[in-house]
Amino acid sequence: MAYENPQSSLNIPLPVVEIEQEQIMSAPLNNPPAVTDLTIWEDDPASGVFTTAPKPDLTLPPLKFLIPGAEPPLSNDVNSAAFRYWTAAEALKRGTNFWAPIVPQPQLWQRGGDTLEVHLDRWEDLEADYNRDALNFYHGPSPSGTVYSCASPDVVCHELGHAILDAIKPGLWTAHLQEVASFHETFADMSAILCALQLPSFRQAILVETNGNLNSDSRLSRIGQQLGAAVHVLYPKDADPNCLRNASSFFSYCDPSSLPSSALTTSLSSNPHSFSRVFTGALFEALADMLTVCAANPSAATPNELRAVSEDMRDILASGVTNAREIPGYFAEVATTISLASAQKNPAYPGIFLGAFVGHAILSMETAATIQSSLNILQDEFVEMAHDRQLAEALTVLPSSRYGLAEDLNIAMTTSPLGFIARSARTDGKSMEHTSLPVAAEAFVDELFMIGQVDYNGFGLKGFKSYGRRRSKTHELVLRDGGLTLQRRLFH
Ligand SMILES: [Zn+2]
Repeated sequence: MAYENPQSSLNIPLPVVEIEQEQIMSAPLNNPPAVTDLTIWEDDPASGVFTTAPKPDLTLPPLKFLIPGAEPPLSNDVNSAAFRYWTAAEALKRGTNFWAPIVPQPQLWQRGGDTLEVHLDRWEDLEADYNRDALNFYHGPSPSGTVYSCASPDVVCHELGHAILDAIKPGLWTAHLQEVASFHETFADMSAILCALQLPSFRQAILVETNGNLNSDSRLSRIGQQLGAAVHVLYPKDADPNCLRNASSFFSYCDPSSLPSSALTTSLSSNPHSFSRVFTGALFEALADMLTVCAANPSAATPNELRAVSEDMRDILASGVTNAREIPGYFAEVATTISLASAQKNPAYPGIFLGAFVGHAILSMETAATIQSSLNILQDEFVEMAHDRQLAEALTVLPSSRYGLAEDLNIAMTTSPLGFIARSARTDGKSMEHTSLPVAAEAFVDELFMIGQVDYNGFGLKGFKSYGRRRSKTHELVLRDGGLTLQRRLFH
């Protein structure tokens, strides 16, 4: 049974008229949407809100996509594969138009070349993923009928965010660290949020819904509403009842290795999707405060001011992630480089970011005070380290008996140059000492096995059954240089 949205009919008769996008923004709210040549879900099928956009051309540079198969005709049947195709295509093009300025040329996609494949419906699974070769989407059951992950612009732009981050910082793919994996999820959720804000109609609607206070529970903060609701029914600890994750929820930092590997969504676990909410919450808070300081009238920010702030956040995230080293305590590291990058955009921004990071215990007060007093010196130091980085490969060996393997497991690690070390806060507010790289990597690997995210690829002991119920695994075991090693396969 196909999903039926209660607010829509199966076929929406809409005229085909070309207009400028910004005309939509200025239209009174009670008018029917001005029409271009494409009708799409604004953020998610569960919102039930349509908007219109120019028909995208996925073959245009600089970041191209290939959806195998014939291009379907436009359709206003919200339950049709064609409607999902064009909704996904528009989200992809809007997302890459937004992110393209910060993707280094000419490398483009991490797989090489300028074209990334997109598979809109691989098989039954309540999932979506990015595996370096492609963005993959699936379908699965819900009480309302079948849901398709590609039908949600939120989910599409989340997966796109993984691909963009992989293009600008490929080292994060191979780092076996809980906070690095969690930041990848934060970046992907921020991609969903920031790409949604590139729709004029959505910017205006969100300013009305939140009364200008972006840091509230809204269609902007609730990411992947339809897919999240479906996942919640089958796996209540993997999603909120009304979305995959809510960026306006509040969690404080603690060492992820001290957390359980899974928990209900009201608590924090070390699972990257759960733990990412610490950092996403801080960034979402910062986004709201950026709008307040940038608006000519702080109590009546305009859609254009919101767009400008979303572009500032994009540039700050890209610069911050470029300069951060992949080290234990990565949240404090990347919070530092993000705060430093924000100073290059607007002198009011560092106070906003540092306040959000201290509030979420991602940075200790001591570290934040040091950053605040040394913005330019530290910025120069991190930029220099990023340019002159001498990365060294190291190896830690984990015992076969722990994982039901026939031989010990090699875990590759990358050591970074020493420099300023940012600290997160303990519960008493004092600076926290980070664990060593081998200890942090072991905690990450143990968690992967515990939650069943490793495909053994036949390397398990005879008769050993691996854990976990999900078909799609983020990591796999492979033989490399004569030894058994762990490598990432995808991000969900
Ligand atoms: Zn993800």
